[in-house]
Amino acid sequence: MTKPNMNYANLKDSYLFFGIAQRVKKYSELNPDKKILRLGIGDVSLPLAKTVISALAEGVSDQAEKSSFHGYMPECGAPFLRKTIGEFYRNRGVKISDDEVFVSSGASDELGDILDLFDKENSALVIEPAYPAYVDANIIAGRKNIHLASSIENGFTPDPDEEKKADIIYICSPNNPTGAVFTKEKLKKWVDFANENGSVILFDAAYEAFIEDENIPHSIFEIDGASTCAIEICSLSKTAGFTGTRLGYTVIPKALERQGMNFNSMWVRNRTTKTNGVSYIIQKGGAAVFSKQGQKEIKENIAYYKENAKILMRVLDEFNIEYTGGVNAPYIWLKCPKNLDSWAFFDMLLNEIQVVGTPGEGFGSCGEGFFRFSTFGSHEDTIEAAIRLKSFLKHLFNK
Ligand code: PLP
Repeated sequence: MTKPNMNYANLKDSYLFFGIAQRVKKYSELNPDKKILRLGIGDVSLPLAKTVISALAEGVSDQAEKSSFHGYMPECGAPFLRKTIGEFYRNRGVKISDDEVFVSSGASDELGDILDLFDKENSALVIEPAYPAYVDANIIAGRKNIHLASSIENGFTPDPDEEKKADIIYICSPNNPTGAVFTKEKLKKWVDFANENGSVILFDAAYEAFIEDENIPHSIFEIDGASTCAIEICSLSKTAGFTGTRLGYTVIPKALERQGMNFNSMWVRNRTTKTNGVSYIIQKGGAAVFSKQGQKEIKENIAYYKENAKILMRVLDEFNIEYTGGVNAPYIWLKCPKNLDSWAFFDMLLNEIQVVGTPGEGFGSCGEGFFRFSTFGSHEDTIEAAIRLKSFLKHLFNK
């Protein structure tokens, strides 16, 4: 008889966003006339940049002509896109070669697939609060998760802990959900720790485009020693609104080896077995993101979301509510007022002002008592949510 992967039985019942969706659905069925403002899930609201749309259209036209038609694409990515991304790094002073870049159909897919490179017996360290997929992907693979709690006291960017060594280490900067960023000094400590212990860091840079502070690294490969201990996973989802279009990229240095095995070569072998490449049309659109005009347009979109962050931060400042994020990241991570627990605060906001956020507890137990707002909505909804939030907080604090 078939034996299923019993590790699925070890997953928590419902994925965080599914749980939220259920509560919101139930509320709107009971209150069909109420307008719900969604500042929960991190999906973008602005359309793709014009330059990207033109490139996608060009890609479609290419497929209509025998002379420019593309069939299967190279498994590790179109050479034109690998080169474009390689140059993007080199222009930032990070020396990588084009064949260290792998094109993917998004960071989520890659965060799951990349675990094929690691033995089942490896342990995985997750700095919490964290994007839930890290823990779940390792549970599905039957791996042991080690949790390292971060806190408002260490700015949600903890130092390595000698008591918590692991084979795989997840670092997400700018972080989802806390919006916190790792400085060069902090990252250097993690790189040294990984090299000393023979660990591999999976660096999730899905939000690097939101960094505005010049001293914060966009890539872990800005840190000396990272090429022997890190893999970087990136995405155009939030950078350029590709959440539904799907494109990402991963950097695996050729210098990354363990026990005589080379991770770059292993990934080439993996990709040539498990994918037939990302669509030509999408890769064509993706390349346009890195053009001069593409960069200008995506930065305008990011500035739009940053404006939303400012609108929400003004309300939190007015009531002296502690928070991180909102500056180098599209998320604001706040301490629930009156020491409310995060699901209680969620229910209050949903029931009283019809604003949906994300309870911190869903990102790990140390997220309890915190709450995440996403700034990816429209200005109109964010302004309306800020007005409702202000009156809710006035009432809560009897002001
Ligand atoms: N990594 C982090 C930290 C994220 O927050 C997300 C999406 O929200 C992803 C990865 C997944 O991105 P993608 O849309 O490229 O799958």
